[in-house]
Parts: sequence; structure tokens; C-alpha cells
Amino acid sequence: MRALIVVDLQNDFVEGGALAVAGGKEIVGLINHLTCQFDLVIATQDWHPADHQSFASQHPKLPVGSKFMLGGTQQTVWPDHCVQGSFGADFVPQFDRSCVSQIFRKGSNRDIDSYSGFFDNNRKQATGLEQYLRDRGVEEVFVVGLATDYCVKFTALDAASLGFKTHLISDACQGVELSPGDIERSIAQMQAAGIVIQQSEQIMSTTTQRETTLDLPDSLELVGHTKHLQLVKRGKWSFVQRPASVRVVCIVALTDDRHLLLVEQHRPPVGCTVIELPAGLAGDIIGHEDEPLLRAAQRELLEETGFVAKRWRELTSVTSSAGITNEVVTMFIATGLTQQTSGGGDSSENIQVSTIPLSQIPQWLTEQQALGKMVDSRVYAGLYFANLIET
Ligand SMILES: [Zn+2]
Repeated sequence: MRALIVVDLQNDFVEGGALAVAGGKEIVGLINHLTCQFDLVIATQDWHPADHQSFASQHPKLPVGSKFMLGGTQQTVWPDHCVQGSFGADFVPQFDRSCVSQIFRKGSNRDIDSYSGFFDNNRKQATGLEQYLRDRGVEEVFVVGLATDYCVKFTALDAASLGFKTHLISDACQGVELSPGDIERSIAQMQAAGIVIQQSEQIMSTTTQRETTLDLPDSLELVGHTKHLQLVKRGKWSFVQRPASVRVVCIVALTDDRHLLLVEQHRPPVGCTVIELPAGLAGDIIGHEDEPLLRAAQRELLEETGFVAKRWRELTSVTSSAGITNEVVTMFIATGLTQQTSGGGDSSENIQVSTIPLSQIPQWLTEQQALGKMVDSRVYAGLYFANLIET
């Protein structure tokens, strides 16, 4: 399992902050993009008391950047920064933390600084990050953020020394460069410690070559994946599956005057418009993995067609294409329909709704196919069920 550690993406470390790193804001978008490529994302947060002993305000006679001894360790004098609860200590607002599962704060002890996300600079106190990663079976960590020559470097070095296979994604970091060459030297130091230095481009392309994933049983081998789909192998047979919580519903929606609701939208895999029954996913929203199928069906019917139904009945569950996917579709029949909105799906979808008399559907489908559209096979299953029931 692989974890991304985002180091100190805080207001004080970007343009306009007390200890601004040049180009700090530039890497935020890239980091947002990277977060969705990992099983687990951690953020560290520099979190100092106002009288932290690394602060220039505590040493009026020492210039910023000079060094002194603090608790037996050489300490750099920094401008006051990331004071607990201040705006400067907040994460950069553009940093999308929706994939971040845990935040580890550091530097809270006034008498010792803490560059690394794992330990203070004397390695006396642990933040809990190591245990957190071990508890979740993480073996490989990728480090990004601010700043390359301080907190990123020490976090990566500690990760490597703890036995994690460690990578630095160098274009998703920026350095302070207090002295010229600091960034280059810190990268060389990381390399010497066995840390793999990579570009984000390589990460995006290698995430499809992972061998294992969190909830894959032993009988399946992961060949590749995106956020929404996994390509897996069982023995010699490869197929596509969705995350375990995701299920599929489809709806045979029949009006009181026996019109069937059909939807059509452009489908990229086949490169044309496809006529389908209203359908959608249950449990695909994080935090709502256990959404009941019926509720998903009701939601999808309203979203796609604008109709609500008085009566619902579960019909059956069918495979959708058992040669290439383990997907099973649960079909519902919905009657007693009334239109509430114009439908059309969410903002990312462009769904056309047609309401066709049941008796005319076979001919209508033939006409639509002549126009270059395709018909999903479940439409014919829907016709079978619609013809069985009385309205
Ligand atoms: Zn600090």
C-alpha cells in the first residue's frame, strides 16, 4: 500500500506568508492532482506555540537564518511562522483536502523544532505518523510539499530510515534555498539515503502498474486502475470491476398511459449516442457507501428524467456484460409517475429524455439506430417487464 505525505502546505510557507517559499503556490494544483492517485494521503502541519524557540522574536539579537544551539541541536532562527490557530498556520485554501485522511501536527513543543513529519529534531518524540502508516499496511511513501531542503527532506529521510520505500516527487516540492545550492544538496542527500527521486509524470503513469490494492482478494490480481475502475485478473481472465461499495441500478419507468421513459447520452467507449433505461450508481459517493439500492434508483430517476414514482418494485438482478465485468445491475419498475423537473442528469452529464408509447418502442428504436445511435440491451429487457405489468 502506498501513501502520499503532503508536507506543510500552509499559508506562511507560500507567497505572502511569514516564511514564504518561492513558487510555493505553484505546486498546489499538482499536489491536488496527485492526491487522487494514492490509497492514503497524509498532510503534515507546522504548528508552533507563539513563543517557539526557533522564532526570531525570541532572539532579538540573532538575525534570521543564523544558527544557535537549542536543546543540544543546532537550530536556525526563523521568522515567526505557523503560530497555532493563526491564518499562517492554516492550509493553503487552494489545497483540496478531500482525499486527506489524517493530519499530523508538529513543532508544538516550544523548546525543540520539528522539521520531519515523523519526529522532532532530536528524535525524542514521535508524531504518531509511523504507527499510523504501519497500522494501515503502508510500505511505500511519496513525499511532496514545502520545503524541499527542510521539512520535506527530513520527512523523507525519516521515512527511509524507518524502512519505508521512499520517493520524493521533486516537481511537487519547492525549496527555501537559504544558501545557494541547498536544494541540490538536499536532493543529493536524499538520493544517498536510498530515496527515489521522481517526477510527478512518472507517478501518474506508474499508478496503473500497481500490484496490489486495499480490498482486492487473493484470487484477483490488479492489472491497472483509475479512480473509478479496476482492471483485474482471475487466473488468465482479465475483467473490469468497480470499487466494492459501488452497485448499479436501472429503472423501468412506465407512465400511467403506458409510455416508457428512455434516456440517451453520448458514451465515449462506443463513440456514439446510446439509448438506455434510466440508471446509475449506488454507493459511489464517499461517506454514502451503504446507500440503499431503492433510494439510489429513486434519486437516479429524478436526476436523469425529472420524474418521481408512487410505486416501486425490485424486479431482478442481471449481469451487464459478464465476459468483461463482474457488474451486476438491479432492475426496478417504477409506476405512478409524475414529472417534477426537466431532468437531464447532473452538470457533467448531458442526458436527453424521451417518453415513448410502449407499443411504438420497437419501431422507434429501429429509427434511432438508423440515425447512428445504439441501443443498450437492457432497454429490451425493460420492454419485456413493462409489457408484463398492468398500469
Ligand atoms: Zn516551523
